[in-house]
Amino acid sequence: MKICLFWHRRDLRIHDNAGLAAALASGLPVVPLFIYDQDILDYLPSKADARLTYIFDAVERLAEQTAAAGGTFLARYGQPRAVLEQLVQEFEVAAVHTNEDYEPYARERDTAVGEMLAAHGVDFFLYKDQVIFAKDDIMTKSGTVPKVFGAYHKSYLARLTDELLLPYPSADGFKADNLHRISAAQAGPRPTLADMGFERLAQYVPTADLPADAVVRNYHHTRNTPALQNGTTRISVQLRFGTLSVRQVMRQAKALNPKLLAEIIWRDFFMMLLWHYPNTATEAYDPKMRHVPYRNQEDEFRAWCEGRTGYPLVDAGMRELNATGYLPNRVRMTVAGFLVKHLFIDWRWGEKYFADKLLDYELANNVGNWQWMAGTGAVAAPWFRVYSPESQLAQVDPELKYVKRWVPEVGTNRYPAPIVDHKFARDRAVAAIRAARIAAS
Ligand SMILES: Cc1cc2nc3c(=O)[nH]c(=O)nc-3n(C[C@H](O)[C@H](O)[C@H](O)COP(=O)(O)OP(=O)(O)OC[C@H]3O[C@@H](n4cnc5c(N)ncnc54)[C@H](O)[C@@H]3O)c2cc1C
Repeated sequence: MKICLFWHRRDLRIHDNAGLAAALASGLPVVPLFIYDQDILDYLPSKADARLTYIFDAVERLAEQTAAAGGTFLARYGQPRAVLEQLVQEFEVAAVHTNEDYEPYARERDTAVGEMLAAHGVDFFLYKDQVIFAKDDIMTKSGTVPKVFGAYHKSYLARLTDELLLPYPSADGFKADNLHRISAAQAGPRPTLADMGFERLAQYVPTADLPADAVVRNYHHTRNTPALQNGTTRISVQLRFGTLSVRQVMRQAKALNPKLLAEIIWRDFFMMLLWHYPNTATEAYDPKMRHVPYRNQEDEFRAWCEGRTGYPLVDAGMRELNATGYLPNRVRMTVAGFLVKHLFIDWRWGEKYFADKLLDYELANNVGNWQWMAGTGAVAAPWFRVYSPESQLAQVDPELKYVKRWVPEVGTNRYPAPIVDHKFARDRAVAAIRAARIAAS
């Protein structure tokens, strides 16, 4: 019997899923699939990874939901192209449906998969699902890539109709009539974490629910107070792995809080920029910032990583990140600014450290924000701006509630003196960057 596969990637949900809805409406019985990508797993920094644990639990939930609806969920471990090639030989696969992914690695992978499938006479369909506007959906009036967030945001809002936020009917179509059941022997076992050489690490488990309306309503008042547990929505992990749909989240934000809506639009913006400029994953967008003589002192980098810089807000942030895999945006900005300006360490070192530690790690958002802080990006803070970590502390945590949660020894003689003087560090970075920019022009 001819079937089609729906390949889940960053969309680990049945509801409101563009590609899954299309597969279910295609007339061919659907077999949902997840591939644990060996190429990605081999690069994880530790064999106990909270993100893989989160993915594993979400995949197992999908498998249970598929069985309850009368179908069979396949999960395999390996290189996606090879796994898919094997599946099209095992089953009579007429088409593979999946949602678009805009990262450089994913684009290369999907091109290779598409070519392999075409060689086997199998159709390959990709759908926009994880963002509302992608690629060149929104361009400037003169047809160039938008690089000013304000103008992009304005065009975005002008086009953001309620229809675009309607859910795709994937949950309605997810029933035995549209699914294909395979015998357990033919489907094979789903890999466990241990099969893949990993251990469970449930470091911080976000709920799969939307944030409470009260959190969303107060967001603009509370987002810069890191001591509050619910000061921000904490939906980034769900958005990263698609356990929540961005349309759901946007509907709520659009109805209740324009500031939150704008923050979610930053996510589309950075994904759009990375799609246009894939080189910026590893190099400064601004050519004048490509030869900045960063100091890259290993011992100072370690002090930053471990939260031992003598600047309480920086240290609290790094310790929260290490312990939980999460950090509120305001503190991400503080620790990133401190690394690239005060310690004058290459933003790529910080980007990599965040990539290893953040549960919501997302290449476009991480690179986009790091390049913003370093002043190197397509959109960026002015390169000569150096925020004082002390003034930021006074603004966001004047009573040291957040700091004391993570750095209990602050104010005692067990707490180190500042690793570098703010004014000295600021002048050092600004002078070095200015010279590098002059040399490059
Ligand atoms: C140096 C640095 C690195 C970052 N790395 C990542 C990353 O790897 N993955 C990631 O998802 N976000 C990243 N961010 C953006 C932001 O800090 C997080 O999305 C946010 O803190 C997640 O918490 P939240 O869900 O409670 O966010 P909220 O403040 O409640 O915002 C809701 C959602 O809006 C989006 N959003 C908010 N702020 C931003 C922003 N500045 N840029 C892009 N999208 C945003 C996110 O999807 C977020 O989940 C980074 C920011 C900085 C300064």
